[in-house]
Order: sequence, then structure tokens, then C-alpha cells
Amino acid sequence: MASSSNDLRNEEEGHSHQIDAPVKKIKMPFIITDNKQFAYVNVREFNNWRRINACQRPIDISMIFLWIVWFIAVIGFYSFVSFFFPTINQIIVCIFAGVLTCIQLATTLYIMFVETQDPVIQQQNKPRNLDYVKEMGVPVIGPDNFCHICQVTVERKTRHCKPCNKCVAGFDHHCVYLNTCIGSKNYSEFILLIYLSAFIALFFAACALYYFIQFFANKTQFKETVSYYFSSGKYAPVICDILLLLYCLFCLYAYFTVLELIIFHFKLWLYKMKTQEYIRKREDDPEYFENLKLKTLFKQRIIEIKDRQKTKRNRKRAKKQKQETEENNTIETEQESFDFRV
Ligand SMILES: [Zn+2]
Ligand SMILES: [Zn+2]
Repeated sequence: MASSSNDLRNEEEGHSHQIDAPVKKIKMPFIITDNKQFAYVNVREFNNWRRINACQRPIDISMIFLWIVWFIAVIGFYSFVSFFFPTINQIIVCIFAGVLTCIQLATTLYIMFVETQDPVIQQQNKPRNLDYVKEMGVPVIGPDNFCHICQVTVERKTRHCKPCNKCVAGFDHHCVYLNTCIGSKNYSEFILLIYLSAFIALFFAACALYYFIQFFANKTQFKETVSYYFSSGKYAPVICDILLLLYCLFCLYAYFTVLELIIFHFKLWLYKMKTQEYIRKREDDPEYFENLKLKTLFKQRIIEIKDRQKTKRNRKRAKKQKQETEENNTIETEQESFDFRV
């Protein structure tokens, strides 16, 4: 494996004298299972390419997995679990869950389609270095903040995402499930999405669990609902109850997976770090995090938020006072000129 990679590198480095040769547009595979697959792509063609949005080839297989999970959860709720609610509750619950899933969908699409490339790159519009060979574990942006592919000096928080092959402002991480980078353009939406997804998954799981228990607590009502909406067969109630339990476990699995992500990003907020910074710090100085107390950090962040709000309020008040003083001065000047004319 390593020798084939070296062969490929040597072969590609041999292209360096053909700088003016026209570069073929890269034909990416439709699906990839691992970003390491990019190591075997022609360097000049790959450097000439960048990902513009998440639906562009290659699609990460994790994104297909995420959409399958989402469809099972949403379709399962509307075409199965919601039928167990009494009619009026069914309408209210469907509207409530519908609004939440629409916000969730809109947020997901925004994250996937927003252009995360650093605006500095677009403003400077420099030709890309097609001959740069990326190395595992070596950032494309040097210690002097110069990106060796985009050929632009960028901000300290900008990173060159290797799978997307572009510089991303405020880079946090490359999300394989959304097939895009998470940076300053979509980080808040990403946080909203994980909180919302956790809430929706927990809500769906709770509804399924409630009606799973109804099979034992209110058997007659449960059987009536099953025979009215699904089947009057002998085993239909038992099958429906098992399906409710499976659906509940499925949503709980989604909930705990997202909850893990929420806890991780909450810790990052306490550490005041981006995912990439955290990973690097963990590798360079593993003991650093052992000395940090999360409770103390949380108190500090709360104090900082309160201070920021106080400063904001004071600034607003000062601005208002300044405006009022200016208005009073104008009135006095007008009054004086009126007195003078009289
Ligand atoms: Zn770059
Ligand atoms: Zn990326």
C-alpha cells in the first residue's frame, strides 16, 4: 500500500515541469467509503478541484447512512406511531413534529449547501498550486499561515480541508455525515442541528415507548386502533407492539449518538477550542485536559457571558445618551436662532 502511494507521488512530482500543460477536469467516483481514497487520485487534477457543496461527487457513504436513518425515523413516525394517538392529539403532535422536522431539514440543507470557503481566497482569486503533494498529518497551511494549494496567506483559524481541497474560515472539522466542512459559516447551524436532532429523536422514542406500554395498560384500546388502521389479524397487535419497541430503540440509538456529539461540542465550548485544535492538543499534550476542571470552566464561561451582556447594555445606554444629548443640542441651537430672528 505504502509503496504504491510512493510510486504515485514520484510519478506526480514528475509533472512539476509541465506547469502550463492543461489539467483535465477530475472525474470523481460517485461514492467513497474513506477519505484516504483521495491519496490515489492524480495530484494535479485533484488540486485543480474543490468541493463546492455536499451533494457534489464524491458522496461519502456515511451521508447516505444518515439520510436512511432520518427517513426511517420520520416515515416511521408519520405512517405508524402517529396513528396510535387519539385524533385531536394526532393533529397537534403531527403539526408540532412537522414544524420541528422542517426546521431540521432546512438547517441540514443550509449546512450542506453554504459556501464555506474562506472569503479571502475568493477575493484574492490566485491560481492554485497544482503540484503540491499533500502528506498525511502535515497541514497544507504552513506556520506562516500561507496555504500551499490556495497560495494565499490566511487567518490563523483558517484550515485547508483535505477532502474538500479548500481553505475554510474558522474550520472546526470535516463532517463525513453531511459531506461538508463545518466552519464559521455553518458552525452555529451545526450546533442547532445536533440539539434539534437529539430532541426530535427523544420525542419520537418517547411517543413509541408510551404506546408500547399501552399494549399492556390499555389492551382493548390498543387492539381497536390496530384493527382500525392496520389489520384485524390475531397477531397484528403483538406485531405492532414489537414494531413500536424496535422503533423506540432505533430512535434511542440515534438520540444517544447525537447526545455524545452534543457533550463533545459542549466540552469544546468550555475549552474554547475547535475540534481540530482539541485533537492536536490531545496528541501533543495529553495531560493538559486532566488538569482542567469542567465545573470551574463552566462558571468562567457564564461569568464571561454575563460580562459581555453587561458591556453590550452599557454600550447601548451610552449610545442612547449620546443621541439624546445631540438631539437636545440641536433643539437648543434651533431655539437660539429663532430667538435671534425674533
Ligand atoms: Zn487552501
Ligand atoms: Zn471538508
